[in-house]
Amino acid sequence: MALQVVQPRIRGFVSVSAHPEGCAANVRQQVATARAGLEEVRAAGRLGTTLVIGASAGYGLASVLSACFGLDAPVLGVCFERPADGDRTATAGWYNLAEAHRLARAEGRHLETINADAYQETTKDAVIEALRARYLDASGARGVPSGGKLELLIYSLAAPRRFDADGTRWESVLKPIGKRFTGKTIDLRNIAVTEASLEPATEEEIAATIKVMGGEDWTRWIERLREADLLAPGFRTVAYSYVGPQVTNEIYRTGTIGRAKEHLEASAAAITRSLAALEGEAIVSVNKGVVTQASAAIPGVSLYISLLTRVMKARGTDESVIDQIVRLFHDHIGPGASPRVDSGGHIRLDDRELDPAVQAEVNELWAQLTTENLQQYADFEGYQRAFEALVGFGFAGVGYDAPTETDRPLD
Ligand code: NAD
Repeated sequence: MALQVVQPRIRGFVSVSAHPEGCAANVRQQVATARAGLEEVRAAGRLGTTLVIGASAGYGLASVLSACFGLDAPVLGVCFERPADGDRTATAGWYNLAEAHRLARAEGRHLETINADAYQETTKDAVIEALRARYLDASGARGVPSGGKLELLIYSLAAPRRFDADGTRWESVLKPIGKRFTGKTIDLRNIAVTEASLEPATEEEIAATIKVMGGEDWTRWIERLREADLLAPGFRTVAYSYVGPQVTNEIYRTGTIGRAKEHLEASAAAITRSLAALEGEAIVSVNKGVVTQASAAIPGVSLYISLLTRVMKARGTDESVIDQIVRLFHDHIGPGASPRVDSGGHIRLDDRELDPAVQAEVNELWAQLTTENLQQYADFEGYQRAFEALVGFGFAGVGYDAPTETDRPLD
């Protein structure tokens, strides 16, 4: 038992506390959206066993909740979160999945989590063991035609670093390539619009970023699961990517992380070839920019998203993380749907973000953006509230003044 009043402790875009009840409220809201948005698809058939890598937050969490509660799939998730330790709360991702487990248990759904480093072979071993032991049998699979083998793997990892088995450490960096980057960003100490300036990445930094965020680990997961004979005929795997706007181009798409995303995207073709005997496919879904722990770390992106949100809300086209994933299952990969892809073979959930009229408006506002007009042009307060919500603060009905149990199980 560890009852305590949990206060927000947010420094910049790093939060050292998370509110368990607020995170639970966030999960329940997403579950309600997934159930309502996927009702029609659920009627077309149920989704079979689904594995989500990067399951506890952002796009991965929304994928877990959509598959499990929206489409009745047995779901196994992998994430890398920290449990509570004495006075220190667990991370938000831990509390998110603790609530998802609680709800799944109450409704007799099959949801499990392996909290371990996804890059490690030992984690892949543990997933294979769990799938064999508890998803293949008839009760685990609950009569799914694929017999409990994996029908879907969602790869939604956003990690800052990766260790090889021999201890070699690879750090992902957010830097431009070829030339120095100077662009607008926000100084969180005084909420001022300032200039960020970053030196170009070295070849080693580019290679390390590709190693962490490229397609090597995705490919390895599929290889291990295929060798273990755990993939069902027609198996599909989807990895998430981002392209983004002109205003973040130098730091994102033509920078180190963009290079890693190109590698991830190129890996899809090779994975699809390796799945020929199963008539399976690997596909990349390019998603919209949303507020998550990972996106908050990219210079300029918080400012861009706060502008984008205002512009898209005014047009009635804004979507949250769960809206995007509901659309993914509804229109592209849920039972009865088939992926509709662009000329590069990618699903484009970022179509409304990259609508030329939206981007023209964003570009115009971006050029004029100053500290003085920040609240007028961009909803930066809204961005900050959305960031606080990621760690469980700001939810109506949560008793923030009351002590709450911070030591919650993930079982
Ligand atoms: P996030 O920070 O919200 O979540 C990251 C997830 O990865 C968490 O579940 C975390 O536990 C897990 N993780 C991190 N390191 C791990 C490790 N070593 N082993 C196991 N799990 C680990 O991230 P997000 O923003 O939802 O990003 C997920 C994917 O979606 C990324 O590929 C990202 O590029 C892509 N994407 C994000 C956005 C956006 O705006 N946030 C837009 C388009 C695409």
